Amino acid sequence: METQVLQPSQSSFELAGKLLREGQLVGMPTETVYGLAANAFDPAAVEKIFKAKGRPMDNPLIVHISHISQVEQLVKEFSPKARALAETFWSGPLTIIMPCSDKVPTQVTAGLPTVAVRFPSHKAAQQIINAAGVPLAAPSANLSGSPSPTTAQAVYGDLKGRVPLIIDGGQCQVGLESTVITVATDVPTLLRPGGITVEQLRSVIGDVHIDKGVTHMLDKNAVVASPGMKYKHYAPKARVIILKGGSDEYIDYVNRHSLQGVGALCYKEDCAGLNVPCVVLGEKDDYSAQAHNLFSDLRKLDEMGLTTVYARCPETSGVGLAVYNRLIRSAGFEVIDLA
Ligand code: AMP
Ligand code: MG
Repeated sequence: METQVLQPSQSSFELAGKLLREGQLVGMPTETVYGLAANAFDPAAVEKIFKAKGRPMDNPLIVHISHISQVEQLVKEFSPKARALAETFWSGPLTIIMPCSDKVPTQVTAGLPTVAVRFPSHKAAQQIINAAGVPLAAPSANLSGSPSPTTAQAVYGDLKGRVPLIIDGGQCQVGLESTVITVATDVPTLLRPGGITVEQLRSVIGDVHIDKGVTHMLDKNAVVASPGMKYKHYAPKARVIILKGGSDEYIDYVNRHSLQGVGALCYKEDCAGLNVPCVVLGEKDDYSAQAHNLFSDLRKLDEMGLTTVYARCPETSGVGLAVYNRLIRSAGFEVIDLA
């Protein structure tokens, strides 16, 4: 299959809408990461997503909408808390998990009684959903296990020959996948941190639990609240090791281990002191920049041919929690405490 990459325009949106209605896949820009979209109500189209990505069938998908009124056809109950979150943070990088309606195919929900819904703020995503005329099921547009793509070029690198069309909406603004919260539990629970912080969620609906899987490696046999948690994610080819400690300790440790193939994923402030190749995550206190850069940095580390990467441990407040959550997964939870 030939893969076209087109700029956003009326005609490319129309083509995307036509392909989606025919049951084909389209690479779609969003403000979080690029998505691989299919008609959420077409089980055969949704199955193509799993095949193209090599994604395990038990990992459910997020359904993308372009108007709040579309929630009604997807859920059994749009609770007051879910509605308050939707009205505050949509359109934007928040996915809300709610009890699902019978209309949603089991391929989308992986057989769970709930469905994940998001209303992206990226204008091209909204236009593609409008052109398709149906909600779109879309996971990140990478091969399963690779870092999520934040540019159309990264989507093309992973999926060329597997999708007919990618719309190039430029570099993703947030750069990490959406925040995922479930309101289908007694107390709403954060399942994945992202651009909307837990502090922001609490300011609207009060108490929000943080699932243990957000910051800890789960037991092999644990029942997970969100199937995506149990898979190795966001992994570059290099072995990533997180070093927990201050700047001086970090620089000293890395320089003492500076063999061939070793590199650093560090804060801008650390760079000058390191004598190994560096990729900069951002300034120490700029969590949004770190989120924005993380996945393209992980891809960069691979392009540099590094075999071991020492990463500076991110802070866990605000959007920093999302950066930490992704980075510990790319490190397979390998953390060395330098203190
Ligand atoms: P991706 O779109 O690749 O970022 O993956 C979507 C994430 O949302 C995965 O971690 C899924 O496990 C999670 N997810 C989607 N639907 C549900 C659901 N109904 N319940 C819990 N987690 C879900
Ligand atoms: Mg993904």
